[in-house]
Amino acid sequence: MKARAFAYARPRTLDDAHAAFAAAEGDASYISGGQSLVPALAMRLQAPQVLVDLAGIEALRGVRLEGDWLRIGALTRHADALTDPLIRAHAPLLSAAAPFVAHPAIRNRGTLGGSVALADPASEFPAMMLAMGAEMEIFGPEGLRRVPADDYFQDLYQTAIVPGEILVALHVPVVGPRRCWAFDELARRRGDYAMVGGGILAERDGGRIGALRIAFFSVGPTPMRARAAEAVLTGRVPDADAIADAQRALDADIDPLDDEEVPAPMRRHLARVLLGRLVRKLEIA
Ligand SMILES: Cc1cc2nc3c(=O)[nH]c(=O)nc-3n(C[C@H](O)[C@H](O)[C@H](O)COP(=O)(O)OP(=O)(O)OC[C@H]3O[C@@H](n4cnc5c(N)ncnc54)[C@H](O)[C@@H]3O)c2cc1C
Repeated sequence: MKARAFAYARPRTLDDAHAAFAAAEGDASYISGGQSLVPALAMRLQAPQVLVDLAGIEALRGVRLEGDWLRIGALTRHADALTDPLIRAHAPLLSAAAPFVAHPAIRNRGTLGGSVALADPASEFPAMMLAMGAEMEIFGPEGLRRVPADDYFQDLYQTAIVPGEILVALHVPVVGPRRCWAFDELARRRGDYAMVGGGILAERDGGRIGALRIAFFSVGPTPMRARAAEAVLTGRVPDADAIADAQRALDADIDPLDDEEVPAPMRRHLARVLLGRLVRKLEIA
């Protein structure tokens, strides 16, 4: 199939992009890397009258430190998460996740902002935003606002972005010297969407696990924070007992969909296995 014919706009500013969207009276889509949208257009799962291309907007570009935060422009490519020195140093969970996202051709076009705006519950980067305690900067009719990851992911493909708003940047708290992290996923083949995946960002506290955030993907309608498992692990030496307790607690944190390929009980089992691997990977000592 081919996409339905559409008009194309390439604005240079956020205001112009918003105006182009508004002029289509809701029958428009923003496009960034196109790696999710173009297949959806080709299959006519979406058929907007107007595509508003965000690629010409300078405000969506660049990676830079702003005090204790790393600002990652929404147009930053998946591939940049592997190579950008600031991302590697200060948002290492993104760098750890990037090789697992699709394939090089898609990573060269797909943007971090597009992935986080789409908020596929099986995607790596949105869940890592949750694990890192990131904040999303959104442009809307009232101007710019920042929404913490804990409030941003609301339901299946539903975020704090309302139609017509633009995700401008991802703000990640910089990683300090006592932080450690782990990322992993279980997929049938490398590059496939994971059956289960997750990441942990934790403080080292004299051989024990200090404050930590755990986020999973492919285990519910949104990226899921594992708060019960976090509570169990806080203050513990990451030994076999702590891991077993956390694995038991994890059941309350996740809400896997039941599908034929990966039934919910299997996803729960895989999530427990993955949590054990993630905790063992943490360099707490
Ligand atoms: C074969 C294949 C395999 C893939 N495998 C994986 C995988 O393993 N893991 C994974 O996470 N992803 C995977 N993807 C998806 C890929 O990562 C997408 O690139 C990404 O999800 C979307 O980023 P994009 O820049 O291409 O967004 P686009 O496709 O341009 O847009 C996606 C959606 O977000 C909206 N949007 C985009 N940018 C903004 C913005 N700044 N503000 C507001 N709304 C915006 C668009 O309107 C659209 O609805 C795969 C894709 C393909 C084709």
